[in-house]
Amino acid sequence: MLNVVIFGPPGSGKGTQSQKIIEKYGLTHISTGEILRKEINEGSELGKLAKSLIDNGQLIPDETITEILKKKLNTLRNSKGVIFDGFPRTYKQAVALKKILNKEGRDVNIMLNLEVDNNELIDRLLKRGQISGRSDDNLETIKKRIKVYEARTAPVIDFYKSEGTYRPIKGTGNIEDIFGRIADALDAIV
Ligand code: ATP
Ligand code: MG
Repeated sequence: MLNVVIFGPPGSGKGTQSQKIIEKYGLTHISTGEILRKEINEGSELGKLAKSLIDNGQLIPDETITEILKKKLNTLRNSKGVIFDGFPRTYKQAVALKKILNKEGRDVNIMLNLEVDNNELIDRLLKRGQISGRSDDNLETIKKRIKVYEARTAPVIDFYKSEGTYRPIKGTGNIEDIFGRIADALDAIV
């Protein structure tokens, strides 16, 4: 089992690189952002809550999102491993994920932190907004998301540093080169 956390600020390329990791390593992708957007499209109660928070650049409460993650993990059978995309997003979520995996005798094997500076993030997300139609990809919400990232999500880095599984990855340049760096980091542990 290979359990990978792909981490980084909004627009750092977590989703893009996850797709490439899945292709090469056969992992199962769990994206909490995608799960929430599906709920929004379906108009569920959870979707309504999620929309009001996401459109404001805020996080979904830890208890709610952790419950969702647990359920999703329980549906997986015979998986070669999981790539966690968008979770954990707070220190509490990182502690919760460890507890959940440890119950099954597993753990996060590696945390890949995609490093991209704020100017490039804003650029990328504004461009994405033009094609994705995502209601959170507008300048005002992007700025809030980056602030929330810095205040609540960046501390997750310290958790994985203390676990000894932290790997910074230069997240700029072309997509293939970034993936090359990720593959080197993964090949070193599989
Ligand atoms: P990237 O572009 O790097 O893939 P992203 O900013 O598009 O990242 P998503 O992972 O798609 O982010 O998440 C979109 C929104 O969903 C977040 O801004 C947040 O409001 C909510 N969300 C997703 N995962 C979590 C989580 N683990 N905890 C709390 N809120 C979450
Ligand atoms: Mg994403």
